[in-house]
Amino acid sequence: MSVKLNNHYDNLVKNYLFSEVGKRVRVYQEANPDKKIIRLGIGDVTLPLAKPIVDAMQAAVIEMGEKSTFKGYPPEYGYDFLRKAIVDYYQNNDNVTLKMEDVFVSDGAKSDCGNIVEIFGDNPILIPDPVYPVYMDSNIMAGRKVTLVNATKENLFLPSPEGIKEDSYIIYLCSPNNPTGAVYDYDGLKAWVDFALKTGSVIIFDSAYESYVDGEEPRSIFEVEGAKKCAIEICSLSKSAGFTGVRCSWTIIPTELMVEDKSLNAMWARRQATKFNGVPYIVQKGAEAALKEEGLKASKETIAYYKRNAKLLTDLFTKKGIFFTGGISSPYIWMKTPRGLSSWEFFDELLNKVQIVGTPGSGFGANGEGFFRLTAFGSYEDTLEAVKRLDEIL
Ligand code: PLP
Repeated sequence: MSVKLNNHYDNLVKNYLFSEVGKRVRVYQEANPDKKIIRLGIGDVTLPLAKPIVDAMQAAVIEMGEKSTFKGYPPEYGYDFLRKAIVDYYQNNDNVTLKMEDVFVSDGAKSDCGNIVEIFGDNPILIPDPVYPVYMDSNIMAGRKVTLVNATKENLFLPSPEGIKEDSYIIYLCSPNNPTGAVYDYDGLKAWVDFALKTGSVIIFDSAYESYVDGEEPRSIFEVEGAKKCAIEICSLSKSAGFTGVRCSWTIIPTELMVEDKSLNAMWARRQATKFNGVPYIVQKGAEAALKEEGLKASKETIAYYKRNAKLLTDLFTKKGIFFTGGISSPYIWMKTPRGLSSWEFFDELLNKVQIVGTPGSGFGANGEGFFRLTAFGSYEDTLEAVKRLDEIL
């Protein structure tokens, strides 16, 4: 006799991408200890927290040590001061008007991307390929049927709903995208919003990289007319303010978003109140500072630093006539491998010939085969050196 397990876990594809990358790099470095490897596969930020954020967190630590200002459990949906700062951020940056109750503060976009499936029943799921793996795996764990939407060179890795069988789907979109760096323009997103409204679908919009948008493209799906009636947005301070280790994000579920006569906002509120005990006060104080004038200014400088790295790489690929997406409004550069090499063949060539590590595109989905992801999160000096080395072999 034994308990029954969630056998849907058997359907997960073994996620060996980063462990395999790590293994190959280790083997190479052990055999060639004198070679300097440059890591352009990093998906984590490398620059430290900005001073206004550190100051705010330090002040919060002091408050926690005084009886008169000590705080216990935080509110499940976030302190009002942070929900207000988020509402202001949307108003000032995106001209999007939200209510404080639309905002749920959380400990990471990854958790919310994974957990949001809980408030939905057994709907068909639409996920672009290639993709940030969390959308896929969390739905497979829940036993949902996933339909892949092709993101390819032909559609510049920005698939549209054209030709997709009409049904009520949960649709995942990520813009600026990880791994491709591609960014939807207004019309591109509007096509998805119109499709969702027409078919009774709900869009889960991951805007974790919104702060990298340089042009006119929407940073928030709520900039698109009608989106409040069909979309949930998940955003994070990880890549904008360096919060990957601090952990703070938010999910926006407008109270206008109803499915039949039920409010998704109310369902998520219930879910969070039951299973989540909030984000630490100290972290929320840091997050508030990140969204105020001084914090935003500091983030802008950090992002400009990463973008300068990205430009070194995109300038090289443009010079060499190599197809790529991303790198402009994104820390990711998604390049076509040269000479028809597979993603892993190119990985091995880069590692062995010029000691550069990136991420094979095939690890993000079948359509990633023949592509390669580089990131701008390294140091300027390393990226400059990497570009010199790449110039020799591309
Ligand atoms: N969404 C995307 C598209 C990401 O690339 C990442 C992290 O790499 C996340 C979400 C995770 O964000 P967080 O650190 O807030 O969990």
